[in-house]
Amino acid sequence: MSSDAEEGQPSEDRRKYEFRKVLDELDDFEGSGTQLVTIYIPDDKQISDVVAHVTQEHSEASNIKSKQTRTAVQDALTSIKDRLRYYDTYPPENGIVIFSGAVDSGGGQTEMVTKVLESPPEPIQSFRYHCDSDFLTQPLEDMMTDKGLFGLIVLDRREANVGWLKGKRVEPVKSASSLVPGKQRKGGQSAQRFARLRLEAIDNFYQEVAGMANDLMVDKRHDLEGILVGGPSPTKDEFLDGDYLHHELQDLVLGKFDVAYTDESGLYDLVDAASDVLADQEVVKDKRQMEEFFENLHTGEKATYGFEETRRNLVMGSVERLLLSEDLHHDVITFTCPNGHEEREVVERRHSTPDHECTECGEPAEPGEREDVVEHLIDIAEQRGTETKFISTDFEKGDQLMDAFGGVAGILRYSTGV
Ligand SMILES: [Zn+2]
Repeated sequence: MSSDAEEGQPSEDRRKYEFRKVLDELDDFEGSGTQLVTIYIPDDKQISDVVAHVTQEHSEASNIKSKQTRTAVQDALTSIKDRLRYYDTYPPENGIVIFSGAVDSGGGQTEMVTKVLESPPEPIQSFRYHCDSDFLTQPLEDMMTDKGLFGLIVLDRREANVGWLKGKRVEPVKSASSLVPGKQRKGGQSAQRFARLRLEAIDNFYQEVAGMANDLMVDKRHDLEGILVGGPSPTKDEFLDGDYLHHELQDLVLGKFDVAYTDESGLYDLVDAASDVLADQEVVKDKRQMEEFFENLHTGEKATYGFEETRRNLVMGSVERLLLSEDLHHDVITFTCPNGHEEREVVERRHSTPDHECTECGEPAEPGEREDVVEHLIDIAEQRGTETKFISTDFEKGDQLMDAFGGVAGILRYSTGV
């Protein structure tokens, strides 16, 4: 993977897929019994600092009592140092994650595994060195969830904070505090006048908060998946019912949630409180894709499914959007017969290469390249300007994509009769 940064840019989908595949593999190694090393390196961390840190850990590892564990950890650290030599002063954009350790390869044997993932979908925030019985994959997993961008607003009558939820990362941006007087009036003020001034101050503050949210979010409204609003009652209700927000932002509000704090920590509380809504939102996007596919399938000819048909459409450049099941873990093998006919067969990743007879001439065909189906299809999609969407199997039509259509389908630009 280390050549990716220099040669062309693999699409974001492709990169995410490759990352997810590595993460799935690494999760399988959990509980291998030895110590596994994970390092997260942000892109502003000097490689020489990391090498120094790894060297230090290597010497400290000499104190590990068990010889087997000691050797395993030191071998992992040596392997990491070797990998770091490929980099100049700083890591590539967004940083690097390195996993290394001796894993169980069956039959009481262990095997050294080292994986380097460059330029994750989001920047690595801080340097982390982790040595434990499993690889630290969670921070990367969090980056992989395709939750998109949400606007966050928390407010009460005293203060407000606005920010973003990017993937799973909360980013506080701006805050404001109000001059709204407390409920206790000072001596000498008439009760009516006090109440009116207080309401005015509240109104002014809501306008200020809305202004802050509008400044931040109106430009991004087309990229936003939604807006979450949090705070105590009745503040958040007054704020939303009063139409203070820009009307296009108002339309994006997914819900209002009770949160106790309205400082920066309130933004985090808001995301927690909205977790069900956010999870639904993710599935909603996938559902929309599948519904569009089924509509095309039933009403017209602008749909294709199955590996071979979809592939043919992809090669023709007729696929608008390629839909791939997240559960598709298969390889494709290209066979060539003595008469030069080329055919492909899809097999499960763990299965060995089967015998193949040419369907045109009946001659036994020789297996050639064996590739991951998803990578094979994304390669073609990228060359043809086709967008790729991964569809979860957490809902009925997503399940159908995997079970009934082999995990591969496409929405077409025009009908091809294939
Ligand atoms: Zn043949």
